[in-house]
Amino acid sequence: MLEPTLLVHGGAGSIPLESQAAHQQGCAAAAQAGGEILLAGGNAVEAVCAAVEVLEDNPIFNAGRGCALTLDGGVSLDSAVMCGYTLQAAGIGGIGPFKNPVRIAQKLMPKKEVLLVGPQAEVWALRHGFEPVPKEDLVTEKVLAVWRDVVENGGTGNFAGGTVGAVCRDAAGHMAAATSTGGTMGKTPGRIGDSPLIGAGTFADEKCAVSATGEGESFIRSVFAGQLACAIRDGVGPKEALQALLIRVRDVYHGVGGAILLTVDGPPIPLCTTETMSWATWTPTEVRSGI
Ligand code: ASP
Repeated sequence: MLEPTLLVHGGAGSIPLESQAAHQQGCAAAAQAGGEILLAGGNAVEAVCAAVEVLEDNPIFNAGRGCALTLDGGVSLDSAVMCGYTLQAAGIGGIGPFKNPVRIAQKLMPKKEVLLVGPQAEVWALRHGFEPVPKEDLVTEKVLAVWRDVVENGGTGNFAGGTVGAVCRDAAGHMAAATSTGGTMGKTPGRIGDSPLIGAGTFADEKCAVSATGEGESFIRSVFAGQLACAIRDGVGPKEALQALLIRVRDVYHGVGGAILLTVDGPPIPLCTTETMSWATWTPTEVRSGI
């Protein structure tokens, strides 16, 4: 059995040089938090949720605190979790200001229903013990400046910054994946991205776990995470499969991005077709980060 391993990402895009160290540090802290759950006997699902929670709480990432805003300045959060062992999965889409959407998805995971969106998802969250926070708790000055540039000047809102995710193989060899995001800056209210959609931005089974980031519509249309899992099941090398799919998403579906991939019997693989994607890995002996 291979050692337990956790891999996180802090979003694909083009992270300015001066922010790259902070992105790597944020990813390393999240990987460490997930690793501590594993050391304490926690499973892969618990570890990815703990890691994503740390990233959601860090305002430099576009998830939870620091999330991107909709065209009308609203908060609309997407998140998903999948357990590769039980094959249970849950996505939460288009919810307002909740501090840690990944915990809401985790709570939904044992239920039969897989995807809840919008105001009714918020009602469900409230009923299950989650309290919304004031919008101001999540919206940072930096995000507001980018949002103004997008809505007032037609800026591109460089999506680096970034969606977050984690994949894990625990001591039992079980896999899990989780993703969380505020989505694309200036998105149409009601828009749901790839992150909460199982088989698009998030997927795990007994062979692999994947969390994607990038131009969500392209990842949805290409059924990215599901295609990757199928390729791995068919015996394609994990790195080759991921590389080929990211290139296909870029060249055929016209969207750039990246993903983190962990297989049941291989090393962690972070890859992107953007300039940067921050990431960090945890194993019992070391934490490594990169961009
Ligand atoms: N994939 C996310 C979305 O489209 C955005 C990102 O990864 O930056 O909602």
